[in-house]
Amino acid sequence: MANEVVKRNVLLNPGPATTTDTVKYAQVVPDICPREKEFGDIMRNMRGELVKIVHGDPEKFTSVLFTGSGTMNIDVCVNSLVPDGKKILFADNGAYTSRGVEVAAAYHIPYIDLKSPFDEPVDPAKVEEALKADPEIAVVYTTHNETGTGVLNPIGKIGEIAHKYGCTFIVDTTSTYAMIPIDIEKENVDFVMASAQKGLMAFTGLSFVVGRTALIEKSKEYTTRSYYCNLYLQYEFFEKTGEMHFTPPVQTVYATAQAIKEYWADGEEKRYQRHVDVWNAIHEGKERLGFKDIIKKEYQSKMVVSIKYPNDPNWDFTKIHDYCYERGFTIYPGKVASTDTFRLCTLGQIYPKDIEEFWKVFEEACVKTGVSIPAKY
Ligand SMILES: *Cc1c(COP(=O)(O)O)cnc(C)c1O
Repeated sequence: MANEVVKRNVLLNPGPATTTDTVKYAQVVPDICPREKEFGDIMRNMRGELVKIVHGDPEKFTSVLFTGSGTMNIDVCVNSLVPDGKKILFADNGAYTSRGVEVAAAYHIPYIDLKSPFDEPVDPAKVEEALKADPEIAVVYTTHNETGTGVLNPIGKIGEIAHKYGCTFIVDTTSTYAMIPIDIEKENVDFVMASAQKGLMAFTGLSFVVGRTALIEKSKEYTTRSYYCNLYLQYEFFEKTGEMHFTPPVQTVYATAQAIKEYWADGEEKRYQRHVDVWNAIHEGKERLGFKDIIKKEYQSKMVVSIKYPNDPNWDFTKIHDYCYERGFTIYPGKVASTDTFRLCTLGQIYPKDIEEFWKVFEEACVKTGVSIPAKY
């Protein structure tokens, strides 16, 4: 089986990511009932590893697994961690924190949507003003890397303020976990989250929250707003039985276990550096061809580059996308505010030489479709 060749695609979209063949093949296992101890051992071990990746002290932090895509974690954290009668404050500078706002609205949880400009990091002073003004706020929520723009938020500073006002701090780290080094306690974060198909470079279907055990246990007292997506209920079941409450994504768990082994084999620094090298290669090609990005370089997470469509009557994103796609490169469109953009992301098992190849193909696509190079704005 392992000798067969699976075509390698370079995914530059914001997840799922390009995976290694060893992770792909790790899914091919003998059929197993996930209630077997053998499978439970894999999950128990994984829960510990997921805490370790963000340097969590196992005496204070735990992880809880869910079957679902990354948005499930947003749902779980927002619906489970706001005490009755209290509010959640969203430090919101983009689409992913706005998704948290939608979750709060859907569950009728009192919230404040503290909006700030999409093209710069959240200002911690604004968060402090909001907390000072409203003692009902018990939870602060933001996104580490706003994947739609690539803006990196200063979570350590926001967390410091959240804690100063006695609030729980939740961060959506889906697009930084296992990519940008995170020390959960030093950065004043109580809960992080991610899914297996992003930084870990496994597959969609397994998501997880890493957070403070004491706060999860305390949340037992809060009104249950969801049955399947409740943090305490899932945690409690794991603690009692070592299993997920309902059927886990068995093959994805095997692939994720392999992906975690590969993460440790590289190590945190080497992983981060590779993503940064890919980011630099994205900028080099972008500059060579005269394309422009929308976010100041110093604000970028180095995990995403958001590029403006050129001002060229021949520019047709679909044509460019299709040309690249047929040659094994996937790019991703997205509107940021009212600006049309496409995104190039650094996640996945990809290297600077893949990006050099990509820009060659992209340039060919431009030439073939009559788009001016250097790009016109
Ligand atoms: C990808 C992503 C998610 C989850 O998206 P799904 O499509 O549900 O997997 C959540 N937050 C951020 C910041 C993301 O990048």
